[in-house]
Amino acid sequence: MARHLITSAIPYINGVKHLGNLVGSQLPADLYARYLRARGHEVLFLCATDEHGTPAELAAAKAGKPVAEYCAEMHGVQSELARGFRLSFDHFGRSSSDQNRRLTQHLAVKLFEAGLIEERSERQVYSVADGRFLPDRYIEGTCPNCGYDKARGDQCENCTKQLDPTDLINPRSAISGSTELEVRETKHLYLMQSKLRDRLAAWIDEQEDWPVLTTSIARKWLFDGEGLQDRGITRDLDWGIPVQFEGAPWTGMEGKVFYVWFDAPIEYIACAAEWAEAQGKPDAQWERWWRTGRGADDVRYTQFMGKDNVPFHTLSFPATLIGSGEDWKLVDYIKSFNYLNYDGGQFSTSQGRGVFMDDALELLPADYWRWWLLSRAPENSDSEFTWENFQGGVNKDLADVLGNFVSRVTKFCRSKFGEAVPEGGDWGDPERQLIADLSEGLARYEAAMEAIAVRRAAQELRALWVLGNEYLQQAAPWAAYKEDPARAAAIIRLALNLIPVYAELSAPFIPDAADTLRAAMKSKAGWPADMEAALRTLPPGHGFEVPEMLFRKITDEERDTWQARFAGGRG
Ligand SMILES: [Zn+2]
Repeated sequence: MARHLITSAIPYINGVKHLGNLVGSQLPADLYARYLRARGHEVLFLCATDEHGTPAELAAAKAGKPVAEYCAEMHGVQSELARGFRLSFDHFGRSSSDQNRRLTQHLAVKLFEAGLIEERSERQVYSVADGRFLPDRYIEGTCPNCGYDKARGDQCENCTKQLDPTDLINPRSAISGSTELEVRETKHLYLMQSKLRDRLAAWIDEQEDWPVLTTSIARKWLFDGEGLQDRGITRDLDWGIPVQFEGAPWTGMEGKVFYVWFDAPIEYIACAAEWAEAQGKPDAQWERWWRTGRGADDVRYTQFMGKDNVPFHTLSFPATLIGSGEDWKLVDYIKSFNYLNYDGGQFSTSQGRGVFMDDALELLPADYWRWWLLSRAPENSDSEFTWENFQGGVNKDLADVLGNFVSRVTKFCRSKFGEAVPEGGDWGDPERQLIADLSEGLARYEAAMEAIAVRRAAQELRALWVLGNEYLQQAAPWAAYKEDPARAAAIIRLALNLIPVYAELSAPFIPDAADTLRAAMKSKAGWPADMEAALRTLPPGHGFEVPEMLFRKITDEERDTWQARFAGGRG
């Protein structure tokens, strides 16, 4: 038994996430957490909402609500959807928590004391009408390169030229449209990442089991061009963690907050502190997950995220932790994902294109989505959601293979022997062969799960379901029953015992169906460590119930209706 800390990239607060977001971090993290718990490991699985920054302020303004109220409400919405998808977080926290405020301020002080934070003055655009400094992307104007009149202060999306706000012709505030803009002097804190380059590079070099994709992204940021850049970690905003606070080693930072990218990953730690508080546990209980001097030395820490987040998790966040000089636990393994595309294009939150988490649960239970998304996870390349693929995956894998096996076995038993495990007969060669095949398949499934090879794990699980169906087809208890009822009883007894085994093995992917099967078979068996023993768990005479239809099929009509409905233009 080992101790596993698992975090999923934290979703931004401004709205419901789409299925591409879900399969890019939270869902595979949940799969891994469930698997490790099933194997008896101690797991702390954390996620949170990322609540600071300008987009949250703007979304709140659009909704006509104070930003704190808006964030609290959206946290509630995202929590509810996480429950709906059966994401088994030990805690779903908030980056706006007191714990994160204290920890972010604490780490900034430590970095300052270590000589890794510098105050710099810079000139920035101030909007008199809005009464605030404007981030580059909230300044619009005409591109000096191509003449496009909606170019943003950081980049022209028409010709892709990188811009400074001062390059724009006729600049205006993207918030109010006001042209009353001034360039004013303002002071900010910079994290001197350049000073940490060698220590970060040495740490990356130690990570021998990381995929080349991950380490090559990190090395590119460390060494390409001028190398790792220092980074502004404060912003002129109202909403966020205040930079000026009691005990701060700097002055004149009133009205500034830490940049959202500085405080968001710190929430991984703060979330553990929130978890401890919510459970009424002392601080030592979360510190044993996060501080190597207080018990976290034997923790294995795995992070899940989309590939666009890799630089922040391999460099910026470790820079904060290493630079603090304190004994914070660093990540041991990063599992990153490519993108899930939607029906010939991309999911788009702004255009409402694709299926969002709330829509999905309105159409079908969580297991249907979990199975399809995980079995087609965008691991080594992008993958694509189409309604035809989704229909095919659900109908073939879940209904025709797993659902069909359960239905045939339980209904045949009920009609010939009643609703109890039948006695008589014994195993012969076909059963011994099946057990050997299942044992080998289980070892492959476990190996894939240990390696967090999500798609391969799904294939191996499906292969185990297929073995049961093939056995049933070959052993043909319906034919045996006419000649030799005891032989039919032996076949069905084994097949009934296979149902709780399937429930345990499938639970990380499809937890609700697993619960249905456990309840129907009145089984509390754990993970089948020994396949032969597991298949003798339910003794003759053990009562069961024929479960309701485990998975229904998606009709062609539904497929076509849904495809049209989600083509774009969500609210
Ligand atoms: Zn342009």
